[in-house]
Amino acid sequence: MEIQLNAVPHADRPLLEILHLKKHYPVTRGLLKRTVGYVKAVDDVSLTIYPGQTLGLVGESGSGKTTLAHSVMRGITPTAGSVIFHDDHLGPVDVASADPAALRHVRRNMQMVFQDPFSSLNPRMTVLDIIAEPLQVNQIAKGKAAQERVAELLQLVGLRPEYMRRFPHAFSGGQRQRIVVARALALNPRLVLLDEPTSALDVSIQAQTLNLLKDLQSRLNLSYLFISHDLGVVEHVSDTVAVMYVGRVVEVAPTRKLYQQPKHPYTEALLSSIPKPDPTRKKRRIAIAGEIPNPANPPPGCHFHPRCPYAQPICAHEAPPLREVTPGQFAACHFSDELNLKGVNDF
Ligand code: SF4
Repeated sequence: MEIQLNAVPHADRPLLEILHLKKHYPVTRGLLKRTVGYVKAVDDVSLTIYPGQTLGLVGESGSGKTTLAHSVMRGITPTAGSVIFHDDHLGPVDVASADPAALRHVRRNMQMVFQDPFSSLNPRMTVLDIIAEPLQVNQIAKGKAAQERVAELLQLVGLRPEYMRRFPHAFSGGQRQRIVVARALALNPRLVLLDEPTSALDVSIQAQTLNLLKDLQSRLNLSYLFISHDLGVVEHVSDTVAVMYVGRVVEVAPTRKLYQQPKHPYTEALLSSIPKPDPTRKKRRIAIAGEIPNPANPPPGCHFHPRCPYAQPICAHEAPPLREVTPGQFAACHFSDELNLKGVNDF
């Protein structure tokens, strides 16, 4: 099923369409390395991102979020499916099967920001060299022109250009993440994949970084794929949210709908765990029993059934398809229509 997230208002065609994407890793055994199974890290995922919008992708660690992002960039080659990037010059390009020239071109338009700003910056390079590197590699600017562009990018992310000859160790965690963002923006991308971009930062710095990302988005009409395990953070930055569980999308909806009226029990449990800033409020957290299953050997039927408080016998042997439950809201649960699940404000 192709999913068009058309409940979010937009006049444009999609920027990125992920269609039935799979990334399966073979599990081998013995001297002859016989394949005895597969780890289904990403299993038939379809999602759409529109220009200037943010798709939030949430789930526990091990749910397949980061593998999905790397498959979109073709840092790893998907097992099946397509990643269609609508390029202004080349038209629709399937990143999953593009030739090297098309891939190089499209990758300029898609950049990735990783979680840890400490390990993603080379400690032996100055900020100038770090941010200028993609400009030089892609033969866009060198020498004085590159230096001017780096100064412009540093200003854009709220850092002083006169610091460009310093090394990363001279900056705080939040400032380093700004340097990483400046490098990601050097080639004027249209889509930025943000993999837990604030989780290594202090809470006060997290808010500043999120505000910066939102400001850059509106100024540059950027699209984001925002990956996080933290639903509280995702709510503030996303137009649409997709929830992943063991390689599959179990719910996808416009942010407000998903937070107010979830249609999947896993989403409800995640919403119940968002911390509330009100100490007088009694917390009624839904504890999800057990661990996230091993994707090499997930439970049959609905993967969530061993942990689901609403499970029925059918759930153990029949996998629920992802279907539209309310306009623009898709959920993979046999009982989405019957369950009266709690929203974020009900806990
Ligand atoms: Fe729970 Fe069954 Fe729905 Fe899965 S299909 S989420 S086990 S009620």
